[in-house]
Amino acid sequence: MSAHDNAKAPRVAITTLGCKVNQYESAAFATAFAEKGAALVPFSGPADIYVINTCAVTGKAAAESRRLVRRALRRNPGARVVVTGCYAQVASKEIRALGGRPPCIVGNGCKDQLVDIALEHGASDLELYLGDIGRQRRIAHLPVAGFPGRTRAYLKIQDGCDRFCSYCIVPYARGPSRSLAAADVLAQARRLIDSGYREIVLTGIHIGLYGLDCEPPSDLASLVRRLLALGGDIRFRISSLESAEISEELLDLFVASPRLVPHLHIPLQSGDDRVLRRMNRPYATAEYAQVVERIATRLPEAAIGADVLVGFPGESEEEFEATCAFLARLPLAYLHVFPYSRRPGTVAAEMAGQVPAKVKEERVARLRRLDEELRRAFRARFVGRVRPVLVERWRRGEARGLTDNYIPVCFPAPRNLANQVVRVRLVACEDKGMLGDWLEGEG
Ligand code: SF4
Repeated sequence: MSAHDNAKAPRVAITTLGCKVNQYESAAFATAFAEKGAALVPFSGPADIYVINTCAVTGKAAAESRRLVRRALRRNPGARVVVTGCYAQVASKEIRALGGRPPCIVGNGCKDQLVDIALEHGASDLELYLGDIGRQRRIAHLPVAGFPGRTRAYLKIQDGCDRFCSYCIVPYARGPSRSLAAADVLAQARRLIDSGYREIVLTGIHIGLYGLDCEPPSDLASLVRRLLALGGDIRFRISSLESAEISEELLDLFVASPRLVPHLHIPLQSGDDRVLRRMNRPYATAEYAQVVERIATRLPEAAIGADVLVGFPGESEEEFEATCAFLARLPLAYLHVFPYSRRPGTVAAEMAGQVPAKVKEERVARLRRLDEELRRAFRARFVGRVRPVLVERWRRGEARGLTDNYIPVCFPAPRNLANQVVRVRLVACEDKGMLGDWLEGEG
């Protein structure tokens, strides 16, 4: 019998750090808790069960994960504290050493059991549900009813990664690549469409590997084709793809269907081949450039973004300059710039030539300035053009949303258009986005 049977509904507070996959998984926990009669409450208030979905991708994320666990342990000494996610998977010892009573730890491979584990026990004893993530062959199926307060829904189609880039802790935290069966993806998409979502973001840890582990093997383009065939008033966005995994078939789908929005986020990490080799990234800058240029030719309106990791061990001034020059000559719409952060357990953490924090900061600042320039130049290309905008918020006669090609837009609207896709003429650039005019009556 559950500890909470015959009692009032347990109050459950969930907090989430990190990527869209964690966001999706936390939404699945919320769905399952609600289906089992629990009451979801804010993490800042009193609760009977606290769930912390942690992240380990940087030292900062790990520190924040520890802070949130400590806070939950302090808040209500009688509450059950359940810690999950990548930091829980790779640093369970550190979490147990935080002091006081040990929380319950549920590893990434056991996330589909988390809600039952949390509800089945009344007290917070030392419990560890970690499993051997490196041998995990099954993806945790985590259905989601919705994402309260959000207009865009996430759909996790894949988990894990087989690549072992030398700086990355994720393969150790999430295990090998596993794909969600197409039938389950389609059922989850149908559920989100029926709930009224107008945009679904396909997420995963390394979604270009989608389908390789399926029986028979499949691929991302086939899955996207089937999602588009569901019909309905829904658009799909792909969260991130490695350059070598953008197939011609996938590009054909982007070109043929406006419901697969023209936005591609393609991690680069460094614009210098020597650094890429040390990172164990499986491509050279020339190949990356070819892919970006091919996309820009076939999909001239696409927003193409890149991740860049700055201050990787041994990154010289010359290698950093090469990265700046490489990025400046590509048709990119924006950059996500991160300082390298040493993750214990990865190959790069042991490399010589760790770059001083001050140098990293200066390099990050320089690339963030380039990011601003790229964003401004991309937006300027669309002045006077009409784009479909998914409205995320409406307040006092002003609507805010995002175009299909990832431009934040603000425009006057006399009535609440939240969660509608409308046509907007982009009229001027602003610091953080564009101003527009709603073409009322045109959808
Ligand atoms: S491709 Fe590299 S950076 Fe991306 S999750 Fe896998 S190991 Fe990490």
